[in-house]
Amino acid sequence: MNKKTSTPKIIIAIDGYSACGKSTLAKDLGKKLGYGYIDTGAMYRAVTLYFLRNKVAFDDAEAIAKALSDITIEFVNVKGKNRTILNGEDVEEEIRKMYVSNQVSPVATISAVRRSMVLQQQKMGEKKGVILDGRDIGTVVFPTAELKLFLTASPEIRTKRRYEELKIKGQDSTFEEIQTNLLERDHIDSNRADSPLRQAEDAVVIDNSNLSKKEQLAMVSALVKQRIKGLK
Ligand code: C5P
Repeated sequence: MNKKTSTPKIIIAIDGYSACGKSTLAKDLGKKLGYGYIDTGAMYRAVTLYFLRNKVAFDDAEAIAKALSDITIEFVNVKGKNRTILNGEDVEEEIRKMYVSNQVSPVATISAVRRSMVLQQQKMGEKKGVILDGRDIGTVVFPTAELKLFLTASPEIRTKRRYEELKIKGQDSTFEEIQTNLLERDHIDSNRADSPLRQAEDAVVIDNSNLSKKEQLAMVSALVKQRIKGLK
């Protein structure tokens, strides 16, 4: 490839509150740009599933260290869909279930877990041309990301979106149950000591409460174009 004319590849960090459409935007943008997509929340969910299945106590440092050394998380694309693989098993559906959602934020407060996930995420993104969505991407994982977005939406809209998403998957959860989970996770994620959820100073904030997916994608695509142009 001619280095002079090739388009520079950037890292796009998408952070924000639970169920505010980060992964939808990341997937759509990834397709449009031909970029890879890393769902960092899925990694914390996979660790949580492993801890629950193997009865790893959240306060047992030794058991946690052993578990982390036994865990391998990969992402594969099957028929255009991202699947999360935990130690060779496709756990994409299981990690989205409510019993995992209810435990993931406490697990994500554990520093040993965060250290291990952050290192893996940095490795996955080192070649750039990648979009990561999560809670600490722009602040901790890739503080030098060329484009940082921070998404928000009203709690009612976020709950409604997650409710509809789970209903389509045939998972029965009430609106109240989902809203409680989202707000509790936001609270724990924002108040933990290690890398709390917060907006990076140089992030572009997008409240997508009243934006369609198409409008949001167009808005962000324009931002990407602008950033890449600035690098040439
Ligand atoms: O993105 P998702 O809602 O699937 O994330 C599940 C949980 O994983 C979050 O509520 C948070 O506790 C944790 N998480 C995190 N840091 C990230 C991504 C997710 O602590 N970068």
